[in-house]
Amino acid sequence: MNAPATTELPVVVIGAGPAGLAAAVHLIDQGIEPLVLEAGPTAGAAVREWAHVRLFSTWGEVVDPAAEKLLAPTGWTRPDPATYPSGGDWAEFYLQPLADVLGERVRTGATVTGVSRAGRDRIVDADREQQPFVVHVAHADGREERLVARAVIDASGTWATPSPAGGSGLPALGEKAAADRITYRVPDLKDPAVRARYAGKRTAVIGSGASAFTALAYLADLAKSDDGAGTKGVWILRRGISGSTFGGGEADQLPARGALGLAAKAAVDEGHADAVTGFRTEAIERDTDGRLVLAGEDGRRLDPVDEVIVLTGFRPDLTFLGELRLGLDERLQAPVALAPLIDPNQHSCGTVYPHGHRELSHPEPGVYLVGMKSYGRAPTFLAMTGYEQVRSVAAAIAGDLESADRVELTLPETGVCGGAGLFDTPDAAEGDGGCCAPAPQLVQLGAPAQVGAAAEQVPAGGCCGS
Ligand SMILES: Cc1cc2nc3c(=O)[nH]c(=O)nc-3n(C[C@H](O)[C@H](O)[C@H](O)COP(=O)(O)OP(=O)(O)OC[C@H]3O[C@@H](n4cnc5c(N)ncnc54)[C@H](O)[C@@H]3O)c2cc1C
Repeated sequence: MNAPATTELPVVVIGAGPAGLAAAVHLIDQGIEPLVLEAGPTAGAAVREWAHVRLFSTWGEVVDPAAEKLLAPTGWTRPDPATYPSGGDWAEFYLQPLADVLGERVRTGATVTGVSRAGRDRIVDADREQQPFVVHVAHADGREERLVARAVIDASGTWATPSPAGGSGLPALGEKAAADRITYRVPDLKDPAVRARYAGKRTAVIGSGASAFTALAYLADLAKSDDGAGTKGVWILRRGISGSTFGGGEADQLPARGALGLAAKAAVDEGHADAVTGFRTEAIERDTDGRLVLAGEDGRRLDPVDEVIVLTGFRPDLTFLGELRLGLDERLQAPVALAPLIDPNQHSCGTVYPHGHRELSHPEPGVYLVGMKSYGRAPTFLAMTGYEQVRSVAAAIAGDLESADRVELTLPETGVCGGAGLFDTPDAAEGDGGCCAPAPQLVQLGAPAQVGAAAEQVPAGGCCGS
């Protein structure tokens, strides 16, 4: 029996998160059959793990227009576009209904363990591009399966591979051994068992992004509540504190994202958290009563803490892509053409030029990393970026290059310019290089007005080329 022509094969999409499900919708729009493989028991499995966290984007910014068109005939109504879903809402009221309408095309409990070219490992050139892709899958029931595909869209995100506490990007000495008192997620303080773990305790929060801001705000709320007296945060930062440390505040075009930074600042100003700056965790030791002592590369040892929350970002799992010829940036592990547009050493304004299949392509034709995973280790990925990426990729796979190249994307700016600057000068002002605005002034904590002033340094119309 003749093998089906490659073009008759499905496109395998790895991951049934927002980007993966949107990819399936756009492939169907292009007349191509998708097969979505999701490791978790349900669609949106990763998003459900942060169900308790409210997004800083509104419903209007996290629903893919093409998906909405597919859902509408089913009687689905989009929630009020101006309101903010939680992760749980996003999964329940959008991702799950979308997976349901996609039906058999979404298989859950299906973990992709390897992707390659049929009969060709990474070395072999011989008519390589004429071969379909092979995808190895481990099913939750223990079965293994080998699938063939005409193209592969990896939308598996980075949620499963959080970065460690160690200041050098490696797990700190003793970090694994102290796992019973360390989490890499924003804790759900509405869960009584979790709440008891942090109430009245001293907790270190390591990291300086939206998730760290959220954790600091949650701990401050706990400290202000009846059952949270004595709750204290210790905010560990690798750099000094300056105008952009708390994000863009009112200048952020995503007000809820700006508010996160201001809430973190308030937590520090109100004394619910102490900021420890220029601290790179080298070791996590356990003292006599089991509490944890963070030791810094500079020899500093912090007072013991009861718990540690590590929110230092994410990194892509590339282990199952080892047989493919990927072109990834050495810093970010993002596609080489996309990386310069999102490099936090250069950019923090949150905007990214419209990009699509060309920026997401690799030496291996027919494979694309999209969604959160396309950003590699870079922060600032937004769902609407993923939706435009997959629209372009699906058109490219269908050969509709005119539509694939017509990428449109306008992203809300953070109101912060200049990039993250050099990490190893804790008290240096940001903006060593990076995009457009002048470096913000260092701000003394406890003087709320200052942050506003720093944010006002941003030139009208935000930053980066606008
Ligand atoms: C706490 C938090 C808040 C955020 N808030 C916002 C916001 O307000 N606005 C915004 O625009 N963005 C936000 N984001 C960023 C981003 O939009 C989300 O992370 C979004 O979920 C990314 O979608 P994704 O489909 O790329 O990845 P994910 O949602 O992570 O989905 C990937 C899926 O792939 C599955 N998977 C992983 N490995 C495999 C494998 N080997 N085989 C099969 N399946 C696999 C996972 O189980 C998961 O379900 C937030 C992110 C976080 C973590």
